[in-house]
This record gives sequence, C-alpha cells and structure tokens, in this order.
Amino acid sequence: MKIRVTIWNENVHEQRNPKIAELYPKGIHGAIADILGDVEKYEVRTATLDMPEHGLTDEVLDNTDVLIWWGHVAHAQVSDEVAERVKLRVLDGMGLIVLHSGHLSKPFVKLMGTICRSKWRENNEKERIWVIEPSHPICSGLPEYIELPQEETYGERFEVPAPDELVFISWFSGGEVFRSGCCYKRGLGKVFYFRPGHEAYPTFYNENIAKILVNAVNWARPLDITRPTLGHYEALEKVEDIYAGMSDAERKHENLQNMV
Ligand code: ZN
Repeated sequence: MKIRVTIWNENVHEQRNPKIAELYPKGIHGAIADILGDVEKYEVRTATLDMPEHGLTDEVLDNTDVLIWWGHVAHAQVSDEVAERVKLRVLDGMGLIVLHSGHLSKPFVKLMGTICRSKWRENNEKERIWVIEPSHPICSGLPEYIELPQEETYGERFEVPAPDELVFISWFSGGEVFRSGCCYKRGLGKVFYFRPGHEAYPTFYNENIAKILVNAVNWARPLDITRPTLGHYEALEKVEDIYAGMSDAERKHENLQNMV
C-alpha cells in the first residue's frame, strides 16, 4: 500500500517576491513534491491556500496518511474550520509534519495548546543541526550533524510543550540554540516539527534535508492499529454487577449521581 502524502503550502512568497519565485519556481510545495515523488511507495499531492477549502477538503483528507505544512505570512487566512478539521484528523491518526514558520500555523498551535513563538532573526547566519537521537527513525542515514550555510535564525525559548522525543538541536553562528526536531503524539496521530526551511534559502534542495523529510513521512504515517474503545465498556472478567436488580431508569439515575 502506498503512503499518501499531501503537501500544503500557503504559496504566497513565491507569488509576491521574484527572488523567491526564482529559487522555488514550482513553489516550496513543488520542491518538496519533487523529493517525495522520487520515493516509489509514496503517492504525493499538493494543496495551496488559494484552492477551495485551501485544498484540504474532507475528500482530500480521507485520502491523506501524512500532511506536510508550510506557512508563514498567511496563517490568519487559513479558515478556523479547516484548521480544526486538520487537528481532528491528526487526533484520529493522520501524521502531520510542520515545517519552519508553520510553528505559528493554526493547526500546530491548536495541537500544542501553547503560543509556539520563539526568537528569530533573518541575517544569513549558519545553522548547524546536531543529530541527538541517531537511532530514531527520523535520523536514519544522517551524519552526526548537518550544516546549512545560510538560514534564518530561531532561538530558544521556543514556547512549545516538551517534545515526547527531541531528535535535533540547532546551533546558529549568532549564538542561539533551538530545539529543531520535535516529535509529539497527539491522540492517535504523530506530529513532527522541523525547524529549517525559510523561503529565501535553498534548504529544500539539501540532500540531508530531503532524507529527513522522507524519514519523517515514514515515521508519521498511521500504523495498522486496533482503535481503542472509548466510553462504556463491559467488564472482561466476571465481576459483581453493583446495579443488579435496578431498572434502566434507576441505573441511569445512579450513574448520574456517581458522576457528580
Ligand atoms: Zn522564515
């Protein structure tokens, strides 16, 4: 079975700024689609802000195992309805990979429950990404560290909940550090936040960044799980029925009292 990946991009810088359009002629979503399209087991589609329902209809999400999100200047233009829909899909098992300034996107902020802000500076500084969990699936095939000659600088504190697993820490030549590879479980879904990917730099053409995106899709994909039962559940063992002899109405009343 193919892993169905939807790459979402607000696709605004690419329309407004000729330099960004030159760097990413197919859009950032197109550059990521080129990386993932080379993987035989992936079925890749893209979606952008300007499409009806931002390209994230129920039908599209029904056919998405992993959603990748890039956004920056247009977070507020994403409808609350679509953001909530994405959040609920993640809780239901869809994988979500949030890139760079997507940390302030509506779906990510909803899933984290914090403000998700950090320090930032755009000054062409070097980023050194340290791989701190080499045995994690997202780090497969990577060297001990990766250097991006120029990137936007982000700095701690990054206002997110402590990640379930932290796989990368970045250092910047201006002195800041940043938790740049954060793994979370939310409900039945997995969320990976990955810091690099500012629109003005060729980050998505770097082969190790490409490897990380492929690894992250593999990690975030839904597994073949038995869905948990939520709500009332009959005992598996023989247990005394404490409501024996009561009518349904009496049981309900008793339950209500117990809930108070
Ligand atoms: Zn940026």
